Amino acid sequence: MVKDCQSVWNNCLHSIKEGVGEQSYNTWFSPIDPIKLENNVLTIQVPSQFFYEWLEEHYVHILRKVIHQELGPEGRLEYSVIVDKGNEKYKPFTINLPNNNKSNKPKEQPREEPLNPFVLNGVDLSQQNSQLNPNYTFDTFIEGDCNRLARSAGYAVAKKPGITSFNPLMIYGGVGLGKTHLVQAIGNEIKDTLNGKFVLYVSSEKFTNQFIDALRNNKIQDFSNYYLHIDALIIDDVQFLGGKERTQEIFFHIFNHLHQNGKQIIMTSDRPPRDLKGLEDRLLSRFKWGLTADLQQPDLETRIAIIQNKMESDGIHIPEDVIEYLAYSVDTNIRELEGVLISLIAHASLNRKEIDLELAKQTLKNIVHDIESEVGIDFIQKTIAEHFAVKIDDLKAKTRKKEIVIARQVSMFFCKEHTNHSLKSIGYHFGGRDHSTVIHAVQSVNDMMQVDKRFREEMEELKKRFKMKKV
Ligand code: ADP
Ligand code: MG
Repeated sequence: MVKDCQSVWNNCLHSIKEGVGEQSYNTWFSPIDPIKLENNVLTIQVPSQFFYEWLEEHYVHILRKVIHQELGPEGRLEYSVIVDKGNEKYKPFTINLPNNNKSNKPKEQPREEPLNPFVLNGVDLSQQNSQLNPNYTFDTFIEGDCNRLARSAGYAVAKKPGITSFNPLMIYGGVGLGKTHLVQAIGNEIKDTLNGKFVLYVSSEKFTNQFIDALRNNKIQDFSNYYLHIDALIIDDVQFLGGKERTQEIFFHIFNHLHQNGKQIIMTSDRPPRDLKGLEDRLLSRFKWGLTADLQQPDLETRIAIIQNKMESDGIHIPEDVIEYLAYSVDTNIRELEGVLISLIAHASLNRKEIDLELAKQTLKNIVHDIESEVGIDFIQKTIAEHFAVKIDDLKAKTRKKEIVIARQVSMFFCKEHTNHSLKSIGYHFGGRDHSTVIHAVQSVNDMMQVDKRFREEMEELKKRFKMKKV
């Protein structure tokens, strides 16, 4: 059967969409056109060099996986990169580039794993592939109040793995707050500064799958033996071990052995150990032997520093007011913040526009819709302004006219109730007011609802327009 490039690519897209999430998919995969399929080489056209580099840096693994899925082990991917869009007279100018992960530093091992990855016969353990992303370092991990304890504990562990009392080190926190980055930074630091250490990063899911494979293939001996040789074991997202009894059993065994031998164990979880479900008590009690540190939502200063740092390292200049606007507007987590930055850069580079406040607002409008599901500050302001027959601009202005003040306070109240924005951020969106003004507004509205039945009913009606937001 002859496969055509469009249908092969469609199949690839299907798997990619599942793997990367909606927003990344729209930004990075929708704009791609498949252009030819020859000798198992699929060529796809991408809009710019930047785009190409981004795909190679961030999505090389998934691309490779889906290409192999679709075209078999011989399948390869090539890019046709649009260097100049051309015009009516001239065709676009493109160059072809192979698909190879340029972010792989030379010292890194090839990513492909050997057939039986667990056989260690005589190999130099420190040369094993640690499965670390070289970009996740302490240098690129911005310090702030939200992560100070976790970061400094992590740094101490990286300098003296297995020797400090932070063993195991357990980092927990919500999604996108930097757990994986931080624990990989520890791994990279150990590898870079201490010679001969066998460091391994593994997600709990991968660990589970490896274990199941080993069971199936009678390779449990090799599997345990491999893990027992590790000097620093980093195991990510241990909440996934919940309910997997046999995997927990072998992990318990590995944990004890490593711990007794002064080897370092580093773990992450999306919740504190006491809230982990389906984990055996004996394992949970082990987790408490060392140090548990959490990562919190980044505060405004940290968000600003993160944006500045990312932009600087990408060699992109963005104006102060844009940085401030973004930092105020996206206050959920760092992954989301990065997503917004990426889209912003992509918009700027695809449309050859300068990054300015206007573009930032436009970009955010598209995305914030996803982030905030139904209700955002803009929507609340618009609805309330209409209801009280005042102008949106007045809500943000200094005027102290009574009807405007009430509309403003009601809007702030709903922003607090129905969005994830912090008080500071809400104040910012109302003409740069202070967070105490927002607190005052919320209190006034509560007070008025207590004493004024009509007002309370009016508020109930308005509330129906703002579907409750799921966090
Ligand atoms: P988690 O594992 O907690 O879900 P990640 O470690 O994957 O989160 O972090 C999400 C993104 O945010 C990553 O790209 C990471 O580099 C970035 N990030 C998180 N914390 C920081 C930080 N303190 N400084 C710089 N980048 C950060
Ligand atoms: Mg993670």
